Amino acid sequence: MTLDLSTPVSQINRVGKTTSSRLKKLNIETVYDLIFYYPFRWEDLSNVVSIFDLVPGDPVTIKCTIDSLSSRRSANKRMNLTQATVSDETGSIQVIWFNQPYIAKTLSEGDVVYLSGKADVNRGSLQFSNPTFEKVSLNTTNTARIVPIYSLTSNLTQKQLRFLIKSVIALTDRVEDFLPQEIVEKYNLLDLSNALKQIHFPDSSEKLKQAADRLKFNELFLFQLQILLSKAALSDSKALSIKFHEAQTKKFVESLPFTLTADQKKSAWTIISDLEKDRPMNRLLEGDVGSGKTVVASLAMLNTALNGMQSVLMAPTEILASQHYKTVLELFKDSDKNTCLFTRTQKFINEEKVSKKKALEAIKSGHCKIIIGTHALIQDDIAFNNLALSIIDEQHRFGVNQRKTLKEKSGDASTVPHLLSMTATPIPRSLALALYGDLDLSILREMPKERKKIITKVVDASAREDTYKFIRKEVKAGHQIFVVCPLVDPSDKLGVKSVTEEYDRLSKEVFPDLKIAMIHGKLKSSDKENIMTDFLNKKSDLLVSTSVIEVGVNIPNATVMMIEGSERFGLAQLHQFRGRVGRSSFQSHCFLLSDNKSFRTKERLNALVDSQDGFELAEKDLKFRGPGAIYGEVQSGYPEFKIAKLTDSELILQAKKTAQEILELSADLSDYPELKQKANLARAHLE
Ligand code: ADP
Ligand code: MG
Repeated sequence: MTLDLSTPVSQINRVGKTTSSRLKKLNIETVYDLIFYYPFRWEDLSNVVSIFDLVPGDPVTIKCTIDSLSSRRSANKRMNLTQATVSDETGSIQVIWFNQPYIAKTLSEGDVVYLSGKADVNRGSLQFSNPTFEKVSLNTTNTARIVPIYSLTSNLTQKQLRFLIKSVIALTDRVEDFLPQEIVEKYNLLDLSNALKQIHFPDSSEKLKQAADRLKFNELFLFQLQILLSKAALSDSKALSIKFHEAQTKKFVESLPFTLTADQKKSAWTIISDLEKDRPMNRLLEGDVGSGKTVVASLAMLNTALNGMQSVLMAPTEILASQHYKTVLELFKDSDKNTCLFTRTQKFINEEKVSKKKALEAIKSGHCKIIIGTHALIQDDIAFNNLALSIIDEQHRFGVNQRKTLKEKSGDASTVPHLLSMTATPIPRSLALALYGDLDLSILREMPKERKKIITKVVDASAREDTYKFIRKEVKAGHQIFVVCPLVDPSDKLGVKSVTEEYDRLSKEVFPDLKIAMIHGKLKSSDKENIMTDFLNKKSDLLVSTSVIEVGVNIPNATVMMIEGSERFGLAQLHQFRGRVGRSSFQSHCFLLSDNKSFRTKERLNALVDSQDGFELAEKDLKFRGPGAIYGEVQSGYPEFKIAKLTDSELILQAKKTAQEILELSADLSDYPELKQKANLARAHLE
């Protein structure tokens, strides 16, 4: 049958039910999806050498004849061994494959093949172990070229996926290039069909770079376009003007048990001035963990309430929402502001648990002016009353649709609520400007004074026992411990496997006498909530976790943060984990465990020992993370790109400039219909 871009993969030759369901797990359902499934790295096996010139350890390809081939069981019967002797005009070499019995059936003596891999030394002579093989042709897929490596799950092999993509690669010609020709020419970009061909099967490393640049440009350009379009839409809208109530604000500030830092005052003042305008504020408040963002937000909510208007504060999880709620209740305890907590499972007004119906009424009637919750606030059947301000915690970007929903629910559809985003992920200013060009930026760089330094150590995995001894001592003293595990198996994106294994090991072998709990992202949110609440109430001593504890949960009694496989996380993220401890007057510790002995890893981790400044660490992170890094690419909160990286700063700037130029030519993109359609799709994708 003839294929086109929308043909389901199941109709490609040789794709059966099993393969198509495996592909589906990678979100590959059509030919189009296959073509747009980019490799995540490439291996250069294009160097074809003669056997005489083989050097152990270098990835190479040899072109050789199979002189003999046999397959047998290993001495202990556990393994199948396929052995071959191969030669070319310069010499011969032994080859061994483990547990690939089909090779003996696929290849035969006399075949001329390419073998790709690394030669190693075995008992004094060179041999090839588990090389990739392929019959010699002009158009190879797996050897004698730069080969693509895909991220795979569920039993698919690289060879299989390469074969499938190759069988449809010609169809890239039918993919329409949405970029206007003038841009393609101006920036000397590869056309889209070619870029797609070259990203999978590059002719050379130069071509590969051009292809990657073109596809990165696609993502970054559409992203910038979307930012600029929403910025334009916003600047045409009206917001409720929130008047500054000076006397009551002063009184509130004086009632606080501490003095505001200079950064807090400055940010609060900027926000209050923004709120007075009848144009919607769109501001990002960045501040390290513990820098005191909540108080700043509270000053904005206070003034909103004093104007008889509502504000919402939304957190990404129930745990965080209820912690915010407690904090805000405490801050407003001397005032008569009615405060509501609204999440899927919890509804409170002031300190009283209420029914959903009652909460909805109190919000709709305007009885409650300060509303705190999760995204249940925009999903549920909620109507606000004069909603003038929305604050979101730990989510950098509020989707256009979410904002539209809030506008519709606000009780006054002619205005758009002011928006304040808050994040503890320190984004260097330069990057923030490029990525969040539509947001104004306030930064809390200065920390409240009395904060204690968290003692941080990089611990060689062989010294794990000493760390356990230390942990035992801390638990004896009544404190609590976090153990964070990275993803071990990339197929298991939520890291459940590693965390379960670690939990078993710790509770059975290491600390059978301690109370150990476990939390990970696959649990139901109500279960997570319960586990965190139990931990907060000291029902367990030690909590084994994936990175779900990354965002703001406050457990003041926790004094040790132990991070396994710490080299797999980015510095900014490690810093955020560390911020889970040191939230009381007790001395806290952070242990970064790592089996990786490379100098680069040590140097990178040591940056955390030397610095407690999230912004400094974020800048270092950017510098350290080379394009080849697989781990430490955690981009929580950043826009998610398939191929572009935050380190592509030049392309980011280029994309931004280009988007500006295009919108100057055609503000609503009506002159560029393909682009307009694509930008709308991209927008939907980003939300
Ligand atoms: P984050 O920025 O991580 O959200 P919070 O707003 O939760 O930080 O504040 C962390 C803690 O610091 C809270 O207990 C808060 O009451 C306290 N805090 C905030 N500002 C100050 C200040 N200027 N001086 C001392 N403590 C402060
Ligand atoms: Mg916070």
